[in-house]
Amino acid sequence: MTRPSAECPRCGYNLDGTVSTWTEQCPIRGRCNECGLEFDWHRVFVLTVHPWLFEYHWRRRPFSRFLQTVLYAFRPRRFWREVRLTDPVHLMPAAVVTGLLALTGAVLLIATLVLPQYLWRLSNGFPVGASFWRDEIVETTLRTPRTFMRLMPGLPVALFAMPVIFALIPITLRQARVRRRHIVRIFFYSLVAPITIACAWCAVNLMLLIIGLDRLADAIDPVYWRGQVGSSVLTTFLFQLLPGMAIVLPCTVWMANWWYLGCRRYLQLEHAGQVTAVLTLILFLLATITELVFT
Ligand SMILES: [Zn+2]
Repeated sequence: MTRPSAECPRCGYNLDGTVSTWTEQCPIRGRCNECGLEFDWHRVFVLTVHPWLFEYHWRRRPFSRFLQTVLYAFRPRRFWREVRLTDPVHLMPAAVVTGLLALTGAVLLIATLVLPQYLWRLSNGFPVGASFWRDEIVETTLRTPRTFMRLMPGLPVALFAMPVIFALIPITLRQARVRRRHIVRIFFYSLVAPITIACAWCAVNLMLLIIGLDRLADAIDPVYWRGQVGSSVLTTFLFQLLPGMAIVLPCTVWMANWWYLGCRRYLQLEHAGQVTAVLTLILFLLATITELVFT
């Protein structure tokens, strides 16, 4: 039986040359000549299946492993202690986890915009509450879809820009020779917790509207506050700025922590702290500038 070719889990460098020098015994620890990663040889050869990651269990136990992956994604420290570079990357199921959550979020968001108003008209206003500024959002969005992005322009930047920024820092990528699929993996799972929270927020908002607590639903809706006009230019400016920043800031903090642990524990980069500091600073500036320019 032929042995499968051995490659470095981080950069993909072929390790067969090293393996072929072994004649009678083999070392426990190894080091990649290309990127400097240190690893246990047994993890390179033995493909033990990861116990809970959806990527490996979507055929046999999709529901429980989906749920477990989502729960672990709320605990980044543990997530990146248990998911390792030596666990082969399967991007399709990873994309399914994030994609399904995003789809649920989109459906719930559309429901909060459309359903309460529909029920309100159907029931002559009792007991359903409805905020008709949401109708205006739907109408403007249908006329010019681009206007929808202006509601929370910094949010997509805070959520999606990190891998692009990572790729634009060529020193990091070249020094450690990290394979792209690892970056994409870190990116996909970074979205799981924020999107789940967004889904929960939409569900709560929808429920409040349906049971008639529309004032409370408005109060927790940043887009509602964004539409308010203050008594002076300054307060109006603050109404514009603060709701967006209340979303962008926690998102940036989450991403900073997620990518720091991803860089340190998973990719085992030497200067994980500095790398993440630079990434986070660029992300925060980009998201804030987008908020200021597009609202
Ligand atoms: Zn390597």
